Amino acid sequence: MAGIYVHIPFCKQKCRYCDFTSFPDKTGFAESYMTCVYHEMAMRGEELKNYVFDTLYIGGGTPSVVDESYIAMLVAAAKKYFNMAENAEITIEMNPGTVSASKIALYKKCGINRFSVGLQTAVDSQLEDLGRCHNLSQFISCAKLLRGENFSVDVMIGLKNQSLEDIGKSIDVAAAYGASHVSMYALTPEDGTPVYTDYLNGELPDGDEVAEMYAYGVNKLKKLGFVRYEVSNFCKRGRESRHNLNYWRRGEYIGIGVSASSHIKNVRFTNTFDLDEYFKCIMTNRFPVIDSTEIDAEGRREEAAMLALRTAYGLNLAEFNAVHGCDFEKIYAEALKKNSRYLEISNGVLKIKDEFLYVQNTIICDFLK
Ligand code: SF4
Repeated sequence: MAGIYVHIPFCKQKCRYCDFTSFPDKTGFAESYMTCVYHEMAMRGEELKNYVFDTLYIGGGTPSVVDESYIAMLVAAAKKYFNMAENAEITIEMNPGTVSASKIALYKKCGINRFSVGLQTAVDSQLEDLGRCHNLSQFISCAKLLRGENFSVDVMIGLKNQSLEDIGKSIDVAAAYGASHVSMYALTPEDGTPVYTDYLNGELPDGDEVAEMYAYGVNKLKKLGFVRYEVSNFCKRGRESRHNLNYWRRGEYIGIGVSASSHIKNVRFTNTFDLDEYFKCIMTNRFPVIDSTEIDAEGRREEAAMLALRTAYGLNLAEFNAVHGCDFEKIYAEALKKNSRYLEISNGVLKIKDEFLYVQNTIICDFLK
């Protein structure tokens, strides 16, 4: 089974921390863009006839900023051009400042069965500081419209002037309004974004403070019945994101739209980040790929180890050895020895101990050549 990712690069306004491919001033191009997206899907569908796709993820940007009829046509195009599994997971990302009852009704009608809502924080002054286009009350209205649905909420930690109580409030609000999944991410001050200046000015919490926030959040989520299944992802029983699980299992996926990346037949490739270039390629029936790398045997092993160790499921040694035709414990003997206090092997599964999952990056680096 494989996944489909579709990137919608439009937003109402640019958040102060954002370095994703999003064009707040170009929503007028939405119709032309979506037409190109349907065409790219048709081209890729032809090429991937033998694949069955069991997830479709509509991300961005802000997919909910474009007219809902475009999204319905996108889902219809996915079903037309790709072999979609009957019970496919179909997710859309939404910004609470861009939703309405009629939008959500059409999303549900066209087959979207999972929603990912960017709350980020339940504190309005922090939302304003992040440059988000919504407030807490809009999130609550959105969550009420999603009552009974399978929906995820994004929560950020590491914000300016954020207390542990603020993080608790964000998680409480998500849980109280019925979220079945929470993604809890630390703010990354990317160079070139306004938030980077806050970082340089020493206005953001330092690494130790963020680690404390993370531990607080993990504990809070646990008490509310959310299980951590990946370093940043928590869910109620059976509500894991199938689309993301496929990424972490080194599964195949096709990316559609500007800046989207793909992994097919051990080749990783990325579409252009330039909107005009994207239009030109699609209108002349060319794939808009700007970068493509074939992953060799060593790269495949490293990717598989790195991705599996991020998850709470860990790495099944026998499966790994069978897939990669190697002996994991022999190849990585040095890294295993060096990190023995952070790792555990139980029933043939290697895992980073629960309490060290947050610092997985440092540990995983030792498994990369
Ligand atoms: S809504 Fe998301 S993609 Fe859009 S500007 Fe904000 S962070 Fe970036």
